[in-house]
This record gives sequence, C-alpha cells and structure tokens, in this order.
Amino acid sequence: MGQVINYKCNSCDFKFKEENKEFYFNEDLTEFKEEMCLFLTFKEIAKSPINGLVHITYCDNCDMFIKTYTITKNETKLTEKEVEDLILKSSKDTEFLGKKLEKLVLLNYDRENKRYINCPECGKDLLKTLTHKSNCPNCENGKILAFGFECVD
Ligand SMILES: [Zn+2]
Ligand SMILES: [Zn+2]
Repeated sequence: MGQVINYKCNSCDFKFKEENKEFYFNEDLTEFKEEMCLFLTFKEIAKSPINGLVHITYCDNCDMFIKTYTITKNETKLTEKEVEDLILKSSKDTEFLGKKLEKLVLLNYDRENKRYINCPECGKDLLKTLTHKSNCPNCENGKILAFGFECVD
C-alpha cells in the first residue's frame, strides 16, 4: 500500500527516501504521529479526527528543509488556527538530514497552495516535495534523481 521513492544525487553521495507520510492524532488529540499509510495504520488514520499529508522540500536560498502539513480532515470543533497551533506544537522535528527544518501548515482546499509553497524565510516559490531533478540539498551542482521505488505493506 505504501510507496517509497528512492532518490540519490548525481554528483555527491546524498540519498533521500520519499515515504509519502500522513499525520494524524489519536481520538482525544493527545498523541501525534507521522507514519506511512499502511495496512496496519490505515484504520487508525481513518478514525482520527484530524489528519492530513506530510511533505518535505528544500530551499537552497536558505539551506534548510521545509516540512508541510496539509490538513485534509478536521472533525473537531477547533478552528483552523487552533489546529495549526496544535500541529506545530505536537511536531517535534527541528532538523532533517542534519540541516534546519521549518514547518508550515496548509489547508487542503487552498488550491493555490496545492503544489507550491513559499519558503517561510525568503519567500521563494518551491515545489512542496523534493522531486526528480530537484537541486541537491548537499552539494552545489548536483540534481537528485529517482532511481527506484519500493512498495511496503
Ligand atoms: Zn549532491
Ligand atoms: Zn528560503
């Protein structure tokens, strides 16, 4: 069910796995998890009152990663702002692959934001995910290339 895409740089030894994770809370909103949507986690994600998609991209201007949480379901009485604050507070990551990580929360129905985000620091337009031929986060001139995918269940 889950699909992992493997990337590697064409000029240094940088490697990256795109795991297509989803985030979700447990029913009383006390636990926050980011996991691949697999057979075992599918039910838990589906019954969660708040869930959505997780993406990671990289800004080469700022030399940092940006993790995006896109809310696709909110069945609580919390406002969008409160859900955003809850996600930012619950997500503990501040680093990714040894570099600074910033976080953003988006709403799924905000179509303008579907594929692109603006870097929260410099405002640069970025694709929401690292993808085939993105600039390498680790070296000057490299591009990351997809070299295969695995299915996980
Ligand atoms: Zn590289
Ligand atoms: Zn930037």
